[in-house]
Amino acid sequence: MKFQIENYVKITCIEDIKNRFQYKPSVDTQNARLIEVIEPYNLPEKGGKISCSIKSCHTPHYKGYLIKTSDNTETNIGKDCGKKHFPDFVVHFNKATKKHRIRSKQEQLNGIIEQKCEIYSRINDLIHQEYGGSWCQKAYKNFSKHYPNQAIDDLKQRAIRNDATISYSRKRTETEVSDMLASNPGSKREEWLYEDIPVGVLAGLDIFQQSIRSILIEKLTNPLNELTQTDKTNLSTAKLNKFARWAGDIELLFNEAEQLIKANRKFFQHDNLILLIKLDISEQAKQEINLLEWDYKNADVTEASQKKLRNLIKNNTKRGIVQL
Ligand SMILES: [Zn+2]
Repeated sequence: MKFQIENYVKITCIEDIKNRFQYKPSVDTQNARLIEVIEPYNLPEKGGKISCSIKSCHTPHYKGYLIKTSDNTETNIGKDCGKKHFPDFVVHFNKATKKHRIRSKQEQLNGIIEQKCEIYSRINDLIHQEYGGSWCQKAYKNFSKHYPNQAIDDLKQRAIRNDATISYSRKRTETEVSDMLASNPGSKREEWLYEDIPVGVLAGLDIFQQSIRSILIEKLTNPLNELTQTDKTNLSTAKLNKFARWAGDIELLFNEAEQLIKANRKFFQHDNLILLIKLDISEQAKQEINLLEWDYKNADVTEASQKKLRNLIKNNTKRGIVQL
C-alpha cells in the first residue's frame, strides 16, 4: 500500500507558474491581501529566474512562493517580500512548508515502495551469491567457534582501534640506544629500549565490527517490510521522518554490505589467516591456530584439523596445561 497524496500544484519550471489560469505577473499589495501560500518552488538554473511579482520589487529569483491573493489572483513572490508586504505571511508560509515537506517524504517513500521488488532482489542476491552474505555469516560463526578466544578478542580490539598492522617488539642493543639518543636530543633513554617491527598487515578486520546479517536483514529488509506493511493513513510525523531518513540511507547500506562482503572474502584467505599466529597471544593459542586448516569454500575449518586440535587439547590437559 502506498501513501495517498492529495492533488497539488507541482512546480518544476517557470511555465508551471506562468501558465496558471489566474496568474498575474504584477500585483499591487495596497489592494490585495494574502489568502494562501499555495506552494514553494525552487526553479532549475537552466530555465532562468522568475521576477518577483510585487509591483515595487520585480527582483528575479529561483526560490520563491506561488501565492493566492484576495482579488482571486495567483502570483509569485520571494520570501523577504512575503514578510514585508503581507503581515500574516509567516503563518501561511509555515503551513505550506509543512505540507510540502510531508508530501516530498511521502513521494520519496512511494518511490521506494514501487521499487520494493527490485530492492528485495538486490538483498537476496547479496545473501545468496557465491561467497556472499550467507557464506560470510557461516564463516564468521565457524571461525568464532574453532579459533582461540584470545585471538578473537585481540582481533575485535584491533578492529575498534583500526589497527591492522601486526608487529613485534625487538630490544635494541646498547649501541643502537645510544645512537637514537644522540640523534634525538632531549629524549629519554626509556623511549628507545624497544623497537616495533611490522611483520604483516591483516586484511578485512571490519568483519569484527559489524555483521552482514545486521546490515542486510536488520537495517535493510526489516524496515522495508515495515514500510510496505504499515498503515499509511495515520502515520505519525516522527515515523514518517524515520522512514524518510532510512530511505535516504538505502544506497549507503547497500554499499556497506558490499564492502563488508569484500572484507570477509579477504579476511578468510589463507595468506591472511596465517598472520594470526603472529598476534600477541599465548603459545598455546598459537599452537592451536597452527593446527587449524581453513576450508575457504566450505567456510569452516577442516574435519581433519578439528581432530588434531581435539588431540592437542586432550594431551595438554593430560600434561596439566591449563586451558584458556
Ligand atoms: Zn520581491
